[in-house]
Amino acid sequence: MGASVRPVRAGGADAARLDPGSRPAALAALAGAEFQVLVVGGGVVGAGVALDAATRGLTVGLVEARDFGAGTSSRSSKLIHGGLRYLEQFNFGLVREALSERSLLLGVIAPHLVRPVPFLFPLTHHVWERAYVGTGVSVYDALSLSFGHTRGLPSHHQLSRRAALKVAPALKRSAITGAVAYWDAQVDDARYVLTLARTAASYGAQVATRVQVQGLLREGERVTGVRAVDLETGAEISIRAQQVVNATGVWTDEIKAMVGGRGMINLRVSKGVHLVVPKDRIHSSTGIITRTAESVLFIIPWGRYWIIGTTDTDWTGSKTEPAASRADIDYLLDQANRVLKTPLARDDVLGVYAGLRPLLAGESESTSRLSREHVVAQPVPGLVLVAGGKYTTYRLMARDAVDAVVHALDWRAPPSCTDRVPLAGADGYLALWNARHRLALSSGLHVARIEHLLRRYGSLTPELLDLVEAEPGLGQPVTGADDYLRAEIVYAASHEGARHLDDVLGRRTHIAIETPDRGMAALDEIAGLVAGPLGWDARQAAREAAHYRAGAAAEQASQEAGTDADANAIRESVPDIVPALGPGGASGNGAGGRGGGVADGVRGRSH
Ligand SMILES: Cc1cc2nc3c(=O)[nH]c(=O)nc-3n(C[C@H](O)[C@H](O)[C@H](O)COP(=O)(O)OP(=O)(O)OC[C@H]3O[C@@H](n4cnc5c(N)ncnc54)[C@H](O)[C@@H]3O)c2cc1C
Repeated sequence: MGASVRPVRAGGADAARLDPGSRPAALAALAGAEFQVLVVGGGVVGAGVALDAATRGLTVGLVEARDFGAGTSSRSSKLIHGGLRYLEQFNFGLVREALSERSLLLGVIAPHLVRPVPFLFPLTHHVWERAYVGTGVSVYDALSLSFGHTRGLPSHHQLSRRAALKVAPALKRSAITGAVAYWDAQVDDARYVLTLARTAASYGAQVATRVQVQGLLREGERVTGVRAVDLETGAEISIRAQQVVNATGVWTDEIKAMVGGRGMINLRVSKGVHLVVPKDRIHSSTGIITRTAESVLFIIPWGRYWIIGTTDTDWTGSKTEPAASRADIDYLLDQANRVLKTPLARDDVLGVYAGLRPLLAGESESTSRLSREHVVAQPVPGLVLVAGGKYTTYRLMARDAVDAVVHALDWRAPPSCTDRVPLAGADGYLALWNARHRLALSSGLHVARIEHLLRRYGSLTPELLDLVEAEPGLGQPVTGADDYLRAEIVYAASHEGARHLDDVLGRRTHIAIETPDRGMAALDEIAGLVAGPLGWDARQAAREAAHYRAGAAAEQASQEAGTDADANAIRESVPDIVPALGPGGASGNGAGGRGGGVADGVRGRSH
């Protein structure tokens, strides 16, 4: 077989470092050997597949056309949940599985990244609704207990109207008769994917971003690898693999087309939009979930902000940069204002983001009722497709995909062990959390800063403190985005594989959606901080900043457009920073490529 496998470095001081030098090294390794598994797509599912396969002892490569999590996996509601509303569809199996995953992620796999979040379900009718919702939430709690893991979350409880208004004074008195309080969990979705990729790399996976698969290598019917392009340079690479796993989410059809459309998976793409508003606009100590005509609306606590979402409408525009229109934003504000005493206005919105759901298509079902369950298919020998599912159940999707790979390889591999593999930063996190006051003293940083770092980097936090010790100026907050330290910006480039400003402002941090100017005030400082590790000269730094500004301006303008089609056209006017090539070198609708026409969807359903 002969693939060069990097020595396992998990747990070492330098574990899981994705520095600027690791990309060329991974590219050389990818071009130079045959892998047992080559994963296409670096979202939560692809990164999960790479980790699952690497920890079973397989040789693994992963290529991602843009950045880790740049697709749907950085644009979700950021909830790790069973999905209360699936209970209404009597989908107990799905809810049970998801709640079991929630408990694993909270307790074992990523306690530094996944944390409990309280929710209030306001009631609008008297007796029957309390009984109905109360039963649902009791089942939810019971399902989460029915596995061996400790749930780690308090049980639900019922609240009178008075008690509900005490925990959520923002609610309109006339809009509720009482409430049910329950717990779920949330995650920084983009950081989670990055951490998965880093962990997979520490177990020997060769991972490279900005590498787009444009064709498959074939021997007869069998797929024997991929033909890819390094989008940074335009260089073509052939990567040989015994099994190729496609985990490209909403781009699955593009890969399916490479084998003549075969694949037994029919996906429907639905757009979901979220708003970010400052914490002080909604006076509540808990998240809120309310019914809408078709589904539910979440108001989710997110640090110093609230995330409000989401919509659920058909989308046929750009998959790379789905655009939110004015209609999406107005819809979300209207839905939130149905229950809020002090209405939110457009000016309250700091950030907006849109993501695309890869839904398994059923016969003429509305998108919010389409299945969130996943499918693994093998359309031709050598190719495994995995699609559907939801963020919360990514590990199960990855396990099932690698089971299919192992079966096809006819190779004795152990079963998945990722339920016992903590992600980078998880081991030792609790001990460091308990020592946070000591860390604050020794580093000279405020304990609130240390807590912020621990929640983002876990036990890798000392790596950032080392940067600050070596250069004390890095212990200062970023000007114009003072939630973040300058050290975090440097670390994004030196350890976390960030290559462009969007990676840093949009995924390693959330400056792009947490500041009213999309990070403009911080941009030059950030470009200056990453220029060193990324080897940018002044010209390159200026080009990157200009590109970021143009993208942000197009995004802002698209949010004034009345229709999806107009919003899409405006957002698409600014191409990606790296040349995104379609098959044969033309601009295509692959990841990073341009979208086709847009049909305005039916508004009003949510995730
Ligand atoms: C609005 C919204 C809210 C959601 N909220 C939740 C939630 O709260 N909880 C939950 O559990 N789930 C949620 N989900 C669902 C969840 O986010 C998705 O199921 C999940 O992120 C999909 O991950 P993925 O890895 O399959 O796809 P993606 O994250 O899209 O990853 C696919 C990757 O493949 C890459 N790619 C594509 N083509 C190529 C190519 N040719 N070569 C190389 N790479 C390529 C893309 O660049 C992309 O990064 C939500 C979804 C949406 C849209």
